[in-house]
Amino acid sequence: MCILVVGSVAYDTVETVHERRERQLGGSASFFSLAAALYAPVRAVGVVGDDFRQEDLDLLAAHGVDIAGIERRSGSTFHWSGRYHDDMIERDTLATELGVFADFRPQLPAGWADTPYVLLANIHPDLQFDVLEAVADPKLVVLDTMNLWIKTTRASLERVLRRVDVLLVNDSEARLLSGMTGLAAAADAIMAMGPKRVVIKKGEHGALFFGPEGVLAVPAVLLSEVVDPTGAGDSFAGGFLGHLARVAAHRDDGDAEFREAMIQGTAVASHCPEDFSVAPIADLTSEDVAQRVAWLRAMMTP
Ligand code: AMP
Repeated sequence: MCILVVGSVAYDTVETVHERRERQLGGSASFFSLAAALYAPVRAVGVVGDDFRQEDLDLLAAHGVDIAGIERRSGSTFHWSGRYHDDMIERDTLATELGVFADFRPQLPAGWADTPYVLLANIHPDLQFDVLEAVADPKLVVLDTMNLWIKTTRASLERVLRRVDVLLVNDSEARLLSGMTGLAAAADAIMAMGPKRVVIKKGEHGALFFGPEGVLAVPAVLLSEVVDPTGAGDSFAGGFLGHLARVAAHRDDGDAEFREAMIQGTAVASHCPEDFSVAPIADLTSEDVAQRVAWLRAMMTP
């Protein structure tokens, strides 16, 4: 079943201890779309500037992503730049240049309002809300966000959270949003804000799932080399919601498929840091994912 995603389609400049790469394809919607397209048809909503390379749009389209919702406007494409610390986990945002994103108002192409699965990727919560308003009766809505929005647009974030089924955050975001230190207490507090289920990502330590039937902890795949972790969270979201769309899960179902989605998301995300930009996700096959899923299951079996 089809997935609608709204998020950033960006150019990223990334610095690591080894290398610096300028203006490569990035953005929450790009990583998500390429990952989710392994599982289900994806419809992408976003905006790019007149500097956006046609080959980057072609890459998304070649992977089966419907790009009819990606508007091209005169101005610059959203540009994010960041520098990773030596641990390749912590990063500093050096610049966020909104460009055409500054006055972006998402528009759904005709016929997209009935899309059953919705991923509100990391963008301003008012834009996430606009998209939700435009969708008729989704089966499942998943939201991703970041510290910036929790700190600067809290009321807007709380408004959209009331209508979301699953929230994806990392551990520091969960603490900031909930005001709680313990992650179980943080998840409970977030569930009281609207989402029935919460996923808390902990980078190289894996991810936690909190649902009506309990908690699941999934370890991260152990990687021998990390080149560029940018987009791992969005790729996780792609595998997670991709799986749920493929099995046509509904918010009122039990937790079983959501727990399986945790494993799929972890397996997909584990490929992202292996190279810069979207390359590892664009090159991914279902067989690659299946291999990592098997590896994860073996690692989790006592
Ligand atoms: P992740 O590493 O999964 O957190 O995702 C990183 C991606 O998010 C990069 O490709 C950025 O272009 C994008 N990004 C960073 N900051 C923002 C922001 N404020 N709004 C939207 N997208 C962003």
